[in-house]
Amino acid sequence: MPLIVGAGLGGLTAALAMQRAGLRPLVLEQAPVLAEVGAGISVTPNAAKGLISLGLGQALAAAAQAVPVQEIFDGGTGRLVKTIDRSDVMARYGAPYYMMHRADLHQMLVDAVRGNDPDALRPGHRLVRVSAGADGAQLEFENGERLETGMLIAADGARSLVRSQIFGDEGAEFTGHVAWRFLVPADAAPPAALVPGSKVWTGSERSFVRYVVRGQTTARALINCVGLSRTGMWRAEGWSQAVPSADMAAVFEGFVPEVLGLIAAAPEGRVNSWGLFMRPLATRIVAGPVALLGDAAHPMLPFMGQGAAMAIEDGVVLGRCCLGAPDAQAALLRYQAARLERSHFVQEESARGADRIQQAGTDAKRLNRDEDSLGLFDYDPGTVALPALMTG
Ligand code: FAD
Repeated sequence: MPLIVGAGLGGLTAALAMQRAGLRPLVLEQAPVLAEVGAGISVTPNAAKGLISLGLGQALAAAAQAVPVQEIFDGGTGRLVKTIDRSDVMARYGAPYYMMHRADLHQMLVDAVRGNDPDALRPGHRLVRVSAGADGAQLEFENGERLETGMLIAADGARSLVRSQIFGDEGAEFTGHVAWRFLVPADAAPPAALVPGSKVWTGSERSFVRYVVRGQTTARALINCVGLSRTGMWRAEGWSQAVPSADMAAVFEGFVPEVLGLIAAAPEGRVNSWGLFMRPLATRIVAGPVALLGDAAHPMLPFMGQGAAMAIEDGVVLGRCCLGAPDAQAALLRYQAARLERSHFVQEESARGADRIQQAGTDAKRLNRDEDSLGLFDYDPGTVALPALMTG
């Protein structure tokens, strides 16, 4: 039985795609309860095509909002620098550009995986040791359980234990960027914040994004807000903490009142902040019976909102690679060949995105090297041509 470690968006997509390929994967998750953080997520057309190929089109359309327009403003003056009309996104890319609550997407995947196999997900399983050889992978969990498998998918996030124990972790480097994230309930939000579409304010090595999730007019509507700043403040990797909203307001001092109004409306104790770290690009994501997937394979900076999209693409492509493969090794090598170049490209462009977005407040030309011009959304993980089958 294939094992997947980690029930984040990547691990769950992989599980669903493998089920659709006729396999019966088991997903092991450290958290005692399957849940996602309270935040918004943009599901760009490349990711949406992947989810739709797994049968989630209707569920997505019901839970997510298609973005009509994206606007980029100078953070200091409020001047509109660029408008991206998203009304033609279906015709251009073959799927909507959605924004939604992460927990809704996570629950959708949990329901779909469990709908295929009620025993597929096992929370309360924290992996503490893993080894691998020609005869398969051996896993040991904190609760004492031991499992063996001929195919292990490591979807255990940016600080992957599997990557460090099997592939060797080359260490994470602080990028100088710090992120803040919070949600404002609709009834506490300034009225201007409830308009559809996404708005980005940029300038002086800072950017602030806001968009609505769970509908514009419903009582459940929330304004998702993310701030990014190259402040040089250091935080330990993965260490996220609640900070006073006044700290964030101080960092965004000089930005327009709409941004400062949103920060002031953040529920106290609900502003989370953490440092952003990078790792060297992986030269391989498969070692014998073990494959890395999602952030475990290619952690990236959030400047293009593509981290989860890449995890979803990985999962969909992995499922297709399993279909018709003579054995696990052939499937995994095909997956690696299909995904390495694409994920490197997106990792590198996401890192460049910091300069492009945060220093472009007065320079619309810089902003033109964006997701559309890079062709990011053309990719369809459900139909992209796969490399020939190989054996190790
Ligand atoms: P994770 O979501 O980290 O899941 C890993 C899972 O493995 C977790 O459930 C964890 O509990 C489990 N796990 C870890 N260790 C163990 C262990 N030892 N044993 C068992 N289980 C374990 N991406 C987008 O596509 N769109 C966006 O709009 C977007 N916005 C973002 C905004 C910010 C500010 C940031 C920082 C990121 C954003 N991303 C976005 C990126 C996205 O959040 C991640 O890339 C994505 O969640 C990675 O999914 P994953 O499944 O690979 O890893």
